[in-house]
Amino acid sequence: MSESPIAVPLLDLKPQYAALADELDQAMLSVAQSQYFILGPEVASFEERVADYCNVDHGIGVSSGTDALIVAMMALGIGEGDEVITTPYTFFGTIGSIVRVGATPVMVDIEPDTFNIDASKIAAAITERTRAIAPVHLFGQMADMRAIKDIAREHDLLIIEDAAQAIGSKQNGRPACSFGHMGCLSFFPTKNLGGFGDGGMVVTDDADYASILKQLRNHGMEPKYYHPRVGGNFRLDALQAAVLNVKLPHLNTWHEQRRENAALYRKCFDLAGITRTADELETGLNGGVVLPIEKEGNYHIYNQFVIYSEHRDALMEHMKANNVGCEIYYPLSLHEQECFRLLGYKKGDFPNSERAAAMSLALPIFPDLTDEMIERVVEVITSFKA
Ligand SMILES: *Cc1c(COP(=O)(O)O)cnc(C)c1O
Repeated sequence: MSESPIAVPLLDLKPQYAALADELDQAMLSVAQSQYFILGPEVASFEERVADYCNVDHGIGVSSGTDALIVAMMALGIGEGDEVITTPYTFFGTIGSIVRVGATPVMVDIEPDTFNIDASKIAAAITERTRAIAPVHLFGQMADMRAIKDIAREHDLLIIEDAAQAIGSKQNGRPACSFGHMGCLSFFPTKNLGGFGDGGMVVTDDADYASILKQLRNHGMEPKYYHPRVGGNFRLDALQAAVLNVKLPHLNTWHEQRRENAALYRKCFDLAGITRTADELETGLNGGVVLPIEKEGNYHIYNQFVIYSEHRDALMEHMKANNVGCEIYYPLSLHEQECFRLLGYKKGDFPNSERAAAMSLALPIFPDLTDEMIERVVEVITSFKA
């Protein structure tokens, strides 16, 4: 009698917790015993360590990755009448934040193979109102920062890196967040460095911006009950920082495990003979799948391992029926979202983003995935007939 095939979850954080449970529980208990909950020494030490990890001078812990983007733009004075360039193929928070500070998002299509902003299309989107470029390092791989920095320098624009999915990702040896004026991180539980709730950070090399960010995250207050600026409550709490302080030393190992998983996927898909290249998206995949690529010079940390399939929705059903987890990031390109209708974009404006929304599928890639699980995922995908 054959055994029933194993189930593979999209993400399972329990093994990570189990491995560090003693330390994590102790860290949370210490915060409880100290009764010091908001900012404080745990947050300060976490800020210092993350800034160091990203090779920048200052880290300002905030309440989420979305709030990191908002407070970064507030500190840079971006608002009404300003335009910020980014892509429509990203998590909602990237563009939602631009709108929430009163600025106008200007969208530029992605490259099909990396899912990141196509830097060759940025210049055409620049107007006299453009203040900043906000490249998103999607799924854990960095956008082409050399090209983006050249354009920003030429047009005197600010750069805000949305590195919510890319803490520890590198380009030519330099970490994400060390290229722009500000880098924004998220510690949402599904990110490579995830807390036990929401959390985020803005990192910057600029001491003046850093002190403005510190004011803004705390109602624009300095000293106590005096407000040179209007900020908000964007603070990181000590419980999150304590948990993240325990996890941070393991982050590089987890990145490596994700990369090994990606390498095993590649090997298994190649053996099955169904690997196609992004160029073939134009002519048809013929039952095959396009695997994520790692561009030369990039250290991809695989927050997600995202493939293209021509029959994505049916494949997803087939996987779910076989107890293999998968998810669509993201099913609707942001230029087509109802809430952004006033921006005036329409279907067809960003063909690569629209195709990614229609054909992309994220496979399980979390560090504790076993080889057997990866082989099972590939077996189920290979057995799919459209
Ligand atoms: C997760 C994410 C955010 C927002 O982070 P939160 O902590 O969930 O607010 C922003 N941008 C991108 C690309 C993300 O993946």
